[in-house]
Amino acid sequence: MTLEFLGAAGTVTGSKTLIRYKDYKILVDCGLFQGFKNLRQLNWAPFPFNPAEIDAVILTHAHLDHSGALPLLVRQGFSGTIFASEATVDVVAVLLKDSAKLQEEEAEYANRHHTSKHSPAQPLYNSQDVEETMGLFETIPFDQDEGLLPDVSIRLQHAGHILGAASVRVKLGDPNKPDHCREILFSGDLGRPDAPIMMDPAPVGKPDYVVMESTYGNRTHKNEDPTSELAAIINETAGLGGAVLIPSFALGRAQVLLLAIAQMKADKIIGDVPVFLDSPMAINMTELYERHHKDHRFSRQEIAKAFDVAYSVKTVEESKALNALRYPRVIISASGMATGGRVLHHLRTLVSDHRNAVVFAGFQAAGTRGARMLSGEPTVRIFGQDLQIKARLYNLEGYSAHADADQLLTWLGGANTQPRRVFLNHGEPQAADILRQRVERELGLECQVPLLGEKVSLD
Ligand SMILES: [Zn+2]
Repeated sequence: MTLEFLGAAGTVTGSKTLIRYKDYKILVDCGLFQGFKNLRQLNWAPFPFNPAEIDAVILTHAHLDHSGALPLLVRQGFSGTIFASEATVDVVAVLLKDSAKLQEEEAEYANRHHTSKHSPAQPLYNSQDVEETMGLFETIPFDQDEGLLPDVSIRLQHAGHILGAASVRVKLGDPNKPDHCREILFSGDLGRPDAPIMMDPAPVGKPDYVVMESTYGNRTHKNEDPTSELAAIINETAGLGGAVLIPSFALGRAQVLLLAIAQMKADKIIGDVPVFLDSPMAINMTELYERHHKDHRFSRQEIAKAFDVAYSVKTVEESKALNALRYPRVIISASGMATGGRVLHHLRTLVSDHRNAVVFAGFQAAGTRGARMLSGEPTVRIFGQDLQIKARLYNLEGYSAHADADQLLTWLGGANTQPRRVFLNHGEPQAADILRQRVERELGLECQVPLLGEKVSLD
């Protein structure tokens, strides 16, 4: 019985862990490497195993750093089953299609402008690959044991984080010989307890081994409710007659913002400012939060009513028409770090007027337009034009979908029996190592931060 850490080791992207048991090969997650170029180049390297020999894939959740390499796996010969929750399959269908479209557009751009060393430049994968990938999914319910292969069963449990997200319990061994059975719990990405929409991560139970994420292994979230800050920004901006523009991730963050604004309006903390949700993908995802209401805290009616706070802007014409409005308004639009999407043309219209506010609603990765704006640069370049930044800029960090270090430790410390060993993945080296020290010192558990490609044997 071995585990191989083939992604999200020493970094937060490219999640891929291979379980070898008997003759079986089971892959947990198959994500894209994202961010810096040297990481992204890893996506072009062949898999360190033969995809045709993988028996099954288990997908914890839909984010592309966990799912985005599945079409590559299929393209290179995988034809087994991909197991995931029902909501994850619905969400990942949208994300993978979008991912293929982006890859195709990038390749086309490179060919038109001769910016690639390869001629012709190829997309990493295309829409056809995604279609084939979607055909291999099998949905499984939460909180139920599912046989995967002889002597291998799995069970999904809620992880919080985003719609459909699961931690996965993998049970290996003959159930008639319990002493020889082993259980490995993969946390997946863990949400924070008391998150506004998603449920708390389910308890650890008593696994023999735990593979836990460590994104915020060296950080503690501020104990402030970002909602009161957002209310103050909306009120001040409305008083000036300006617009509040919120660049937002389409999945998860946009829905939390809508809920927060709906509650502020109901509590009359803010006035009756019109709100626009201007992102086709966010509108799509919002519908999925309604359809899969059993996977979060609200009933279908409650969540639909909250999301009704915003007008859904569907067409490009409607989106552009928002720029002509002269009254106070809130616009939620993607992408979350202002690297692309409809938010750009709103930014171009709004950023040079002091009456407006631009509110980033989460972590801005180094090198993105959002990070540069928040670093205090006086201008921002949009569609080849340098624009003076006169709007007020804010960064609300309190909406993170990840548990912080204390919350990760509390979750792990709730195990009913001491796991034999804990592996920390999905973290930058420093975050993972600081968390490792705390797991050893505060919980008294054996803990390891595997390197990329490292293989460990389990007794
Ligand atoms: Zn995630």
